[in-house]
Amino acid sequence: MRDENCIFCKIAAGEIPSATLYEDDDFRVILDLGPASKGHALILPKNHYRNLYDIDDEVASKAILLAKKMITKLTDVLNCDGYNIVQNNEEAAGQTVFHFHMHMIPRYKNDNVGLGWHMGELSEADKNEILEKLK
Ligand code: AMP
Ligand code: ZN
Repeated sequence: MRDENCIFCKIAAGEIPSATLYEDDDFRVILDLGPASKGHALILPKNHYRNLYDIDDEVASKAILLAKKMITKLTDVLNCDGYNIVQNNEEAAGQTVFHFHMHMIPRYKNDNVGLGWHMGELSEADKNEILEKLK
């Protein structure tokens, strides 16, 4: 349930100090050291899961409920105007720390935080292929 080489395991366990916003038996919520905006925080489960592909269903459910609770409270504290929840899975998707975490990124009007992508266009071929393969 723990990876000795994982920095987030050590942070979640409290062995490496962190700016902890919240802690319970299953999670630690910390401020990100490289924030995209003021108040950018991470939800870390105390057990080690590489990412969403292998996280326990129950822990995943608790994580989203915790995100809901945290952003509700933090919106008041930070006086922000909205939130992005970001969760990266595998290197191709921007994951750099391979211990499941959810980013909670407060958004402020006109903050210029760049999380965007260039919108493409859904092709008939892609749509048909995906719908067919999912059957
Ligand atoms: P990701 O790219 O989704 O894997 O996100 C990793 C995040 O962890 C980045 O936003 C980093 O700034 C943050 N990070 C890495 N090391 C630490 C640390 N020791 N304490 C707090 N945040 C960290
Ligand atoms: Zn870990």
